[in-house]
Amino acid sequence: NITQSGQKIDVCANIGTREDIENVLRSDAGGIGLFRSEFLYIENGTKLPTEEHQFHVYRLAAEAMGTKKVVIRTADLGGEKQAECLELGEDRNPEIGYRGIRVSLDKDEIFKTQLRAILRASAYGNMSVMFPMITDVEEVKQAKLILEKIKNELKDEKIPFNEEIKIGVMIETPAAVMISGELAREADFFSIGTNDLTQLTLGMDRTNSRLERFYNTHHPALLKMIRIIANNIHLEGKKIALCGDLAADLSLTEKFIQMGIDELSVAPNQVLALRKKIREIQ
Ligand code: PEP
Ligand code: MG
Repeated sequence: NITQSGQKIDVCANIGTREDIENVLRSDAGGIGLFRSEFLYIENGTKLPTEEHQFHVYRLAAEAMGTKKVVIRTADLGGEKQAECLELGEDRNPEIGYRGIRVSLDKDEIFKTQLRAILRASAYGNMSVMFPMITDVEEVKQAKLILEKIKNELKDEKIPFNEEIKIGVMIETPAAVMISGELAREADFFSIGTNDLTQLTLGMDRTNSRLERFYNTHHPALLKMIRIIANNIHLEGKKIALCGDLAADLSLTEKFIQMGIDELSVAPNQVLALRKKIREIQ
């Protein structure tokens, strides 16, 4: 994944379940750029996944990847991703409703259980944690505060974890784009979620097939946003990844590299085609 002129782009894989880990290894991705942890909740039936269960799965991912990174995104439940084990109530507009970090900060006992599992697993590999659907610096600060509390708990209990665990923020709301400069000072790394960012920028539900002819994933507003984000994050000397579906759109790869995107994270079966495309670019 090095261009003809010698620019290296990290190519990582997105996963949702432990079964995907095997596919990541087979595709020889540079790491797991997005572990959609909400699938642990969705697949657990009527019971919430316990700390032990989550720890086991995250540890499995960490150990399987060795020194390669594993980014666990905390549960982005709600919206199109409803879990039987968690009653979130009815939303008239689920995609812009009670979901992601909003649920985590609201139901903080569930969030704490997940953070404990992630921190414990961080002792077994190169693991980091990332927060979804951020719209405000305050949300990041609150999430970090809870993470610090859990770290102290684990220290008291003498349970090993990586004290230097890196914290990531997803840029997938227009609000996050506009404050990406401020967010850049609050976290260690960033990943653009183009799926949500596109639907929220266009004001069009990504799951509504009747909108297909209007749903322009190459909309200039979106591409302009990606450029702005990359600049703001780089000004703080930090790295910007892109993990939405657009990362696998090979007609945009060259543009993303020109914009300064440091990492592209795609489904495991898209990794090799993307690496080939990067190698062809001047
Ligand atoms: C995104 O919004 O682009 C993203 C990666 O998150 P998800 O598709 O899981 O909402
Ligand atoms: Mg998203």
